[in-house]
Amino acid sequence: MTAAVLESNKADSRSALRRHVVIIGGGISGLSAAWYLQRQSDNQGLDIGYTVLEASDRWGGKILTEHVDGFSDTPFVVEAGPDSFLTQKPGALRLAQELGLGDRLLGTNDQMRTVYVLHRGKPVKLPDGLLLIVPTKFKPFVFSRLISPLGKLRMGLDLFIPPKRDEQDETLAEFVRRRLGNEALDKIAEPLMSGIYNAEADKQSILATFPRFRQLEQQHRSLIRGMVASRRQQASHAAPPSSNMPKIAMFMSLQGGTQELVDTLVGRLEGDLRLGTKVARIQRDADGQYVVVTQQGEILKADAIVLTSPAYIAANLLQEIAPTVSEKLSTIRYVSTGTISLAFKAEAIKRPLHGFGLVVPKSERRPINAITISSIKFDHRAPEGYVLLRVFFGGSRSPETMSFHDDQLLGVIRQELRNILGIESDPLFHRIYRWHQANPQYDVDHLKLIEAIEAKLPQGIMVTGSAFRGVGMPDCIYQSQQTVSKLLEKIQQSEVVE
Ligand SMILES: Cc1cc2nc3c(=O)[nH]c(=O)nc-3n(C[C@H](O)[C@H](O)[C@H](O)COP(=O)(O)OP(=O)(O)OC[C@H]3O[C@@H](n4cnc5c(N)ncnc54)[C@H](O)[C@@H]3O)c2cc1C
Repeated sequence: MTAAVLESNKADSRSALRRHVVIIGGGISGLSAAWYLQRQSDNQGLDIGYTVLEASDRWGGKILTEHVDGFSDTPFVVEAGPDSFLTQKPGALRLAQELGLGDRLLGTNDQMRTVYVLHRGKPVKLPDGLLLIVPTKFKPFVFSRLISPLGKLRMGLDLFIPPKRDEQDETLAEFVRRRLGNEALDKIAEPLMSGIYNAEADKQSILATFPRFRQLEQQHRSLIRGMVASRRQQASHAAPPSSNMPKIAMFMSLQGGTQELVDTLVGRLEGDLRLGTKVARIQRDADGQYVVVTQQGEILKADAIVLTSPAYIAANLLQEIAPTVSEKLSTIRYVSTGTISLAFKAEAIKRPLHGFGLVVPKSERRPINAITISSIKFDHRAPEGYVLLRVFFGGSRSPETMSFHDDQLLGVIRQELRNILGIESDPLFHRIYRWHQANPQYDVDHLKLIEAIEAKLPQGIMVTGSAFRGVGMPDCIYQSQQTVSKLLEKIQQSEVVE
């Protein structure tokens, strides 16, 4: 047989085995699932086609960047959702590099990394050397006025308190109170660690959100000792600086904003990509094959389905074919949050902060949760001489602000900016983004719930995304990659619905 005939036989047998995967949701989870499906099936010589169905009229889900022109030669780069990704978890950085975006990466301005905490209405610097909640440098911590002398002593007791030995989950509040005391919870852990998840510290699962802290406790009998040891280890293993390697900061973005990742990714996907296509139902036909029905009444047959929509939507879609999974998915709570970006001339900020921004503890009872100074955190976010601020509102701290109409919200936010930063002037422009039912909550025993969901999934049905094992962009991308690997393994073992 000639090579050409062999090739055509191979093609015939491949098309007979062609599988079709439907991916529901065109946020970063759905798009990266498509990317890894395309790459991994190619690498493994599997003949798999895919369709990505996105309800809205744009790709990216919570990733959305707006460029606002008209003030200078360069635009303001306004982020509506994520403004950066953590590089210690490599999912997002690796994806950017795979897409050839290495030279577009943009690190935070780490020489300005200071974060402030609102303390009795005034911004106070977080002490240098504080790694989330754990002080690793003695002097700046001792001299900080954020924590009272008694509160500091209580934090120091971490060195002596025996570790929790069982594997049971607990809330972030229980964990921090146990090891470091109430003040550390109120002034540091709650605004920073619950803030990241828009969560409530007395519901938030430590194992699902900060498992590293429990590991440090168990391995080193103390968070402070554990952090100091892991810092030393990191320093001794750090690669020598090389002039050829781009500097990788702890948090990175892209020069054009996080949406550059989405736009580039969409441009590289070769499957069937459909915007404005909301999935209404998932059923099985008489042969047991999955049938995806869109709101417009289109019908798509699928050998496998990857759901990346929010959990409550996945719950609705799976009601008919997987009622137990559906019921469990519907117990994942969500909260709504919003951001408002405002631009000013630099001189309008009468009491500027020299850092990335400010977090607001719940105990301060303010209508805002945090302020990021986007134009300090990153270059290329505002033209020279201008400042771009981003204020976070909503969530469990200030849920009432979500229902304020735009003028009312702007009024409240401007009052806050007047009080905290001394800004009297009108913003040059502002942009409000509301994210309704957008932030999944990882309550205590979240990981057990996810394991139970995964154990009950019917063959050929996969669920992934921010509701499961991490909310950050790197988590979502990593989970999609893992989901695709598992799916392909099953396809290869022909375990998927025939
Ligand atoms: C304000 C804000 C700031 C954030 N900041 C950061 C940050 O700085 N760094 C970071 O790493 N992460 C951050 N995050 C978290 C991160 O952005 C999200 O967790 C992540 O983008 C979620 O991606 P996803 O694809 O899982 O979900 P989504 O982006 O929600 O995508 C799901 C998609 O499914 C679609 N969909 C829903 N129903 C259907 C249906 N029936 N049929 C078809 N499609 C459907 C939706 O339209 C949506 O596009 C932030 C989130 C918010 C809201």
